[in-house]
This record gives sequence, C-alpha cells and structure tokens, in this order.
Amino acid sequence: MTSAPPRRTTTAQELWSHWLPAVERLVQVPAEFRSAHLPHQEAARELAVDEGVLETLVGAGFPAVETGDGLFYDSHDVRNLGLRAGLGRSLAELGERQCMRLAAGQPEQWTAERVTRLRLTAVCSAPGCTAPADPAVPAPKLYEGRLTEWAREDGRPGSMLAEVTTRGHRDAPRTDTVRRIHDELLARLVSGEYQYGWVPEALRARPAAAIGHRTVDCVVAAWQMQQWAEEAGVRARTRRGFLLGLVGVEHAWTEVFEEGRWLLLDPVLAYLGSRHRATHPEFADFTRGSVHNRLLAWDRSVDESLAEHACDFGGHVRVDCRQLPAARTPA
Ligand SMILES: [Zn+2]
Repeated sequence: MTSAPPRRTTTAQELWSHWLPAVERLVQVPAEFRSAHLPHQEAARELAVDEGVLETLVGAGFPAVETGDGLFYDSHDVRNLGLRAGLGRSLAELGERQCMRLAAGQPEQWTAERVTRLRLTAVCSAPGCTAPADPAVPAPKLYEGRLTEWAREDGRPGSMLAEVTTRGHRDAPRTDTVRRIHDELLARLVSGEYQYGWVPEALRARPAAAIGHRTVDCVVAAWQMQQWAEEAGVRARTRRGFLLGLVGVEHAWTEVFEEGRWLLLDPVLAYLGSRHRATHPEFADFTRGSVHNRLLAWDRSVDESLAEHACDFGGHVRVDCRQLPAARTPA
C-alpha cells in the first residue's frame, strides 16, 4: 500500500450505536486458533477508525495482544468486526459490497452467457518454498460453460491465463427436504446463531470445530449442508471455485442429488445479498437451486486445494484470480 485512505473521524454516536455493539456481538477467533500479527495502525486503517477509537474498542473487549511494539490483532477478528460495524467503510464491508454487485440488476442478467479472461496465480504461504505451484484447471463445463483458453503465462511462475465462458441457469428444489437444507443454513446466518465471516485456515480445515465455535464461512457452510443432506439420506457434495469480478473471490457451495439431477445450494450468497440494498428481491430464491453466471467451478470439494503443489514446508497455497481485459477482436 502506498497511499493511505483519508483519515476517518468516528462520532460518539457511531461509537455507541455501531462499534461497541459490534464488539459485543463479535464471535472471536478461539484463542487456540488466534494468531495476532496485524499491527495496531493497520488494523485501524482496515476498520477505517482512528487509532484512539480502536484502543477504546480493545478496552471494551476486542481481542488484542500487547507487545513491546504495541498492540497486535488477529486479521480475522479485525475483518469480522469490520463486517459487523454496519457503517459501510471498513475494508471488509467495501469488499463485500463490491462482490455482492452480482446480486443486483435483473435476474435475466444472472444467467446470460459471459466470456471472461482471467489470470490465475498460485502462491504458497511458506516462506522459502520454491516448489512449483500451479493453479488447477477450472471446470466451467460442470455448469454448461466452456474453457476456451488455458496457457502458462511467460515470465510469471505459477500463473495461468484462462478464458472461460460461463452461463447460469434456473432451477429449484422439488422436495421439502432439500429446500429445508438451504433455508435452515440461511436462517442460522440471519439470526446470528452462526456468525458469517472470516475463519482461520486451521479452523476451517476442522469444520465441525468451526460450527462448534459458531464461526462459519462458505467452506464451513458447504460442509454443514453436506452433513445435513447425508443425515437426511440425500447424496451431497461440496464444490470450490470463484465468484468472478475484477478480483475473483474464492467461494464454496453444496450440490445435492435430487430427482435425477445435481442441484446447487448457496445460502451464504443469499445471506450476503440480504445485507445490501441493491440486491434484487428474487435473489434469495435464486440461490436455492440456480447457478449464477459469475460462478466459476472447479471439480474439487472443500477439502481439496485449487492448486497443484507438493509443499515440503507445510505451506498453504492460495490461488489469486484477476480479470483481464477482453481479448481484442481482430479488425
Ligand atoms: Zn510450498
């Protein structure tokens, strides 16, 4: 980051009716999964509050670790607090709003055919890891799309260039059992029984523990719906992929097998859509069975990686997905 966003002044009213209640409601990262590496100044900037306001929030119970170099925070706690402020200024809220533009507009736009050029880059988190990391091949054909380009990018290790055609389609559950799996998960997010937000990698790898701690992201939600489906005798599987945008957002969802076809359930998107005024009223119905044209799937479940990488350092590979300008049409 080279330029700092403008400094925000928090009013007393914002402190009392937004920030302090958000600290009270926050489900904190469990102590055994907490890793406090985010410095005070950066945390304040992510939340778009003055540093003094953040100190007040720590006094009210927001978790921080005091060191000789000042206060440090777990980045998941900071983003989750930002999501709960309801002022629309924190980096977490700005990112969510950007992503959820896919829920605005008219429903016909959600299923139209789209052609997107992408750069996918695999990055290993382990310092010093030099083993090659490659993004796995996306599978738009799972939802009637196509992969029309897949090429290594010269001079950028770990980067692949892709062109995908995606299209959505409408479908809906035909049985109450399947409808309830989607709606039950959505109800638990809306009521706050499950706190939707950022879950540390080590905790999302143990989804039952994440559920026990009430911290849920799309990966944990996808796993939970698979459990419910299987308990009800319905075949189910989880899937991983990206929500396409200028910067792709990693996402996960569930498919259930009902009356001869696989049906997609994505109540996390319905929940996120419900937090934004621009969301079309039909969107919550859409996530109960339909496929959005901004969804790019991989033929992988939530416990599989989106990259091919054999790490000697126990690193975690993240895949970054950026949209590229459309290919120029020949004159
Ligand atoms: Zn590695």
